[in-house]
Amino acid sequence: MSILAKHAQGKGGPDTIFAYAGAAAKRAEEVGSENIVNATIGAFLTPEGHLATMKTVEAAMEAVPFEVAANYAPINGLPAFIEAMADSVFRDYRPNCYIDGVATPGGTGAVHNATFNYLNEGDTCLTTDYFWGNYTSLLSEFGRKLDTFNTFTPEGGFDVQACLTACKDLIGKQDNLVLLLNTPAHNPTGFTVTNDEWRQLLDGLTDLAKAHPDQGVIVIIDVAYIDYAPQDARSIFKLFENLPENLLGIVCASLSKGYTLYGYRLGVELCMAQTEAVKDEFMLAAGASCRATWSNCSRVGMEMVAQLAADPEKLKAFRAEQDDFAAQLAERAALFTSEAEEVGLTICPYHSGFFIYVPTKTHEDAEALTQKVAEKDIFVVPLGDGVRIAICAISTPQIKGMAKIFKDAQQAL
Ligand code: PLP
Repeated sequence: MSILAKHAQGKGGPDTIFAYAGAAAKRAEEVGSENIVNATIGAFLTPEGHLATMKTVEAAMEAVPFEVAANYAPINGLPAFIEAMADSVFRDYRPNCYIDGVATPGGTGAVHNATFNYLNEGDTCLTTDYFWGNYTSLLSEFGRKLDTFNTFTPEGGFDVQACLTACKDLIGKQDNLVLLLNTPAHNPTGFTVTNDEWRQLLDGLTDLAKAHPDQGVIVIIDVAYIDYAPQDARSIFKLFENLPENLLGIVCASLSKGYTLYGYRLGVELCMAQTEAVKDEFMLAAGASCRATWSNCSRVGMEMVAQLAADPEKLKAFRAEQDDFAAQLAERAALFTSEAEEVGLTICPYHSGFFIYVPTKTHEDAEALTQKVAEKDIFVVPLGDGVRIAICAISTPQIKGMAKIFKDAQQAL
């Protein structure tokens, strides 16, 4: 018998990633953490396996008086925080359109608001067929669905045509089209939609928006990993200028990775609207969603961001730390991808980001590959039809030789 409400029955259950992380932790207890490779954790760790945090962020957090930190923040977030986050996200590529936003508990809260406010109950959101699993649960939590389209062309680019075909199909079936893209530095593959692909995509979406003037075409860009991608990945934001009024860009950013503030739960939902009216209704609905779900977010994180932004020296030092983390990650990735090429291990197209993904034919194959490499004390997570390797969590020496172990394991299956 269940006394849960109908919509709540059957949801929940063990989290795959935490289950595999648990297996790695158990093995570490048996043989010592220095004798295993734990590539299950989705956080950037030092080569010694500790959470990498930024000194500039820590100092700025500590400089916030407790009485200020402990106070409520405005529902929409501190204005100086929103402005600093817009600057952090867009940098030299701030589009000339109507930009505003609200603070959210992580990128998760931003994706929640964006999908909730632009999809009706029972509607479907579109994303790539490699995607962050939490999108499904996040949407089903409030009665929305997820559908996917093919991610990659045979040449390893973003499959713009598959995306546009799915968009055209869906806009005929519901009020709004909501396309959710996690780029740059996609989880779990590390791919980034290029400028050229964005241009083609936005051309196609512009045609759709013009053909359906009474409907909304909403492009949600989940940039949770943007601070680990090359700077020019931001240039795509400039493409959100001079679009039809009913084509709205929403950026969901997170402070988890870029500011190493995972547990402080802070992010931002920013609109790139073509008219003031679209921006105003975005803000009204977003603010109402904040008030009705989490009310307001961690004030100390917002104060910290505002403080860094107000001091050019601090901001410079902070961005230098960010760049250093990104460079360390790029070094790890370069080693894995070059060795994968040498040994002929197929991985999904990788540009930047926390994860490298080894595709398999089936999920069972992914589980078998995970088990096989675990025999060598390498711990990864089988997700969908493939294995996710968290290079963010392991050191360069640990990565050396790993691609060959995966290749050998695949051949031994
Ligand atoms: N989007 C993607 C693709 C992610 O992988 C994550 C975190 O793992 C998030 C968004 C949101 O993270 P947070 O809510 O911690 O900001």
